[in-house]
Amino acid sequence: MSSRLYRRGCRVLPGGLTRSTIDLDPHPIYMAAGKGAYVTDVDGNRFLDLNNNFTTLIHGHGYEPVADAVSRLLRSGTCFANPTEHEIALAELLVSRIPAMEQVRFVNTGTEAVMFALKAARAFTGRPAIVRFSGAYHGAYDWAENGQNGLPSGFAPRLQAYRGAPESISDDVVVLDFNRIDALEDALAAHAGRLAAILIDPVPSRAGLLAPLPEFLERLSSFARRNGTLIIADEVLNLRQGYQGASARFGLRPDLITAGKIIGGGFPIGAIGGRAEVMQVFRSDGKSPAVPQGGTFAANPVSMVAGLVAMEAMTPDAFVQLEDLGNGLRTRLTAIAARHDAAFTIAGSASLFRIHAKRTLPTTYADAVMSGAEAKIMRRLGRFFLGRGVLLPFGAAACLSTAMTACEIDAIAEAFEMFITTDQERSQE
Ligand code: PMP
Repeated sequence: MSSRLYRRGCRVLPGGLTRSTIDLDPHPIYMAAGKGAYVTDVDGNRFLDLNNNFTTLIHGHGYEPVADAVSRLLRSGTCFANPTEHEIALAELLVSRIPAMEQVRFVNTGTEAVMFALKAARAFTGRPAIVRFSGAYHGAYDWAENGQNGLPSGFAPRLQAYRGAPESISDDVVVLDFNRIDALEDALAAHAGRLAAILIDPVPSRAGLLAPLPEFLERLSSFARRNGTLIIADEVLNLRQGYQGASARFGLRPDLITAGKIIGGGFPIGAIGGRAEVMQVFRSDGKSPAVPQGGTFAANPVSMVAGLVAMEAMTPDAFVQLEDLGNGLRTRLTAIAARHDAAFTIAGSASLFRIHAKRTLPTTYADAVMSGAEAKIMRRLGRFFLGRGVLLPFGAAACLSTAMTACEIDAIAEAFEMFITTDQERSQE
């Protein structure tokens, strides 16, 4: 069925798809349903889902409390031009938990959240330029995906996210290397007077799910404070690092935080939060605001209610339990690799993990980039997992959900060990 659907999709969707991140080997797997930790495809195959819509579904699929709350809402109106109480309730929850969020605005995606955060920083500082870090993904806003290499060596001098991107965008986006303390301050100083914001994912997932070095965060923060540059923590993915989010966990004190994914309970969402003083750029009071912000579906009641229900269930205890599960898995996978002397390391914290086909755990993006041979191993690993009924994202963070138990951890560990033994046998043949 999946192959038939793909052929049908190819006639009306470019490349058959609406996302460029879907594995096409040999065709995408079309999903029919999901329940808890598992999804079922249109051919009736069941998989343990370690993707969870790119880390969105912290409770897995079809979470009953969200389904109930949303079902109740459907017949009483799903969107209004006017505000509803639901957006205040979700904002209150976020503000009560996340230290750097004094006020919040809602949008529909992480891309929009990052876009508005960058605009807010520019409006607040009156400066145009931003710093971001190579390999980190922040969505598809032009200034979040293009840029100029700000370090003397390393990657290409201009980073063009798409053909035809105006070169002028790169003039205002300086791309540095995450965790490269040596080069950080000089590179920042070279652009100091023009920098509105440093955009940083505290645990950049696409770049390798790199753990931030405390000294790196300290130096970066002290530069930002001295220079009047804002720090924007992009926690669209990493808010799930803990009850208070990623910045609080890793000791970063951002001026703005972007959120998304888990705070929508499985529905589209994004949020920009931060210091009340900075958030005033969105305030209109009858006059035109410094940064106009809105959107037809911004703060729609469905996402607000689903998000509130999902987040309320994420109590401090729920975060601890999920993290225990994550620690158990990472320790086990690491031990398996060591036992077989296999070149794998496991990155991640809390409910997130990423398997690297490398002997040492990467600390920078340059370390984490896959060689051709490593990419082949990771493709083989992904295919092997698929054959054992486990969906593992390629080149991105995998995640656990509250729907998982020790039984799912066993299944992942067994698949991993089996892969290592069969792959080692194959390479010895
Ligand atoms: N920022 C980060 C850190 C992300 O991981 C993502 C999505 N993976 C985005 C922004 C963009 O979010 P969305 O896909 O909701 O636009």
